[in-house]
Amino acid sequence: MMNKKVFDIKKMIRPNVARLKPYASARDEFKDFEKEMIFLDANENPYNNGLNRYPDPQQVKLKTKIAEFQKLSISNILLGNGSDEILDMLFRAFCIPDHDNIIILPPTFGIYKVLANVNDITCKEVLLKPNYQINTKEVLKNINLKTKLIFLCSPNNPTGNLFEKESILELLKKFDGIVVIDEAYAEFSEADSWVDEIKNYPNLVVTRTFSKAYGLAGIRLGVCYANSEIIKVLNKIKLPYNVNQITQDKALQALENKDRICNKVADIKINKQVLLKGLEKVDFIEKIYPSEANFILVKVDDAHRRYKELLQKNIVVRNRSNEPLCENCLRFSIGTKTEILNLLKAINN
Ligand SMILES: *Cc1c(COP(=O)(O)O)cnc(C)c1O
Repeated sequence: MMNKKVFDIKKMIRPNVARLKPYASARDEFKDFEKEMIFLDANENPYNNGLNRYPDPQQVKLKTKIAEFQKLSISNILLGNGSDEILDMLFRAFCIPDHDNIIILPPTFGIYKVLANVNDITCKEVLLKPNYQINTKEVLKNINLKTKLIFLCSPNNPTGNLFEKESILELLKKFDGIVVIDEAYAEFSEADSWVDEIKNYPNLVVTRTFSKAYGLAGIRLGVCYANSEIIKVLNKIKLPYNVNQITQDKALQALENKDRICNKVADIKINKQVLLKGLEKVDFIEKIYPSEANFILVKVDDAHRRYKELLQKNIVVRNRSNEPLCENCLRFSIGTKTEILNLLKAINN
């Protein structure tokens, strides 16, 4: 892909953010905090308990490790308190409240719309096609001068499928705003990541998370990859210490034990096959949607009834019936082998 797109970030950025002088914290002004110094600049408690100092606001150690894996520079990376925070920062950096709009493609992850509402941004909804692929023609028709962001979730939650590469490329090339690809489930898929494409598309933002494959939903860590111009803007509005010390330490530890995570992902893929095989034989299941993620969407005869039956057997699944194109659909996350066998037993009794 050779297309070197001209992307004018000055036209995209919110004027107040463009004018903003970023806040400089104590640790921004004196960064060399590995050195033996007497630190009397941040009003911290001086008595060492391992956490009495503010964390590195730029998370350089952690970002360096992540950059190494992705063969990128740390200037292409921003970390957030979960990918939720990163998505919110995109709104705050680029969308003018009560003026701009964004486009989402339902059925999809609910947060994009919530963030649009919180930030007072019009949320245009362009339904996926019945095969859950992007209706590119309709998306392009909905773009106007006030459209700042298009959110693509691939593999998509709750449908589980990847979006066709050609459709995404078409949007990247034809849309002058920012295309956000949420790759929360990428580690479960064999497909190439879009992270490698940020070199070719200055308007591409890819988000990843430690909440799914890494098994660290509790530490709240999201990763944003983009052209350094976009990262610079996000850094301007970032709260100084948005990723805490415990999270930074835990994430570094996880990256140093990547084999363990790969093994877990492999186990989840095996459990998924067990679940798929078991579900094929269930007569009230009308359709099992192909999945590239750690969950499976199924269409049943009566989602409300089946949801309640499972709940009575102490199994909580997600009822997605109220989403467009998901009538009578339940979403099963892939648990441990034991949990999956219990789910199948409950379904069959
Ligand atoms: C689970 C999930 C996330 C993760 O969000 P975090 O804030 O990083 O925990 C992001 N996007 C999608 C589509 C998800 O399903």
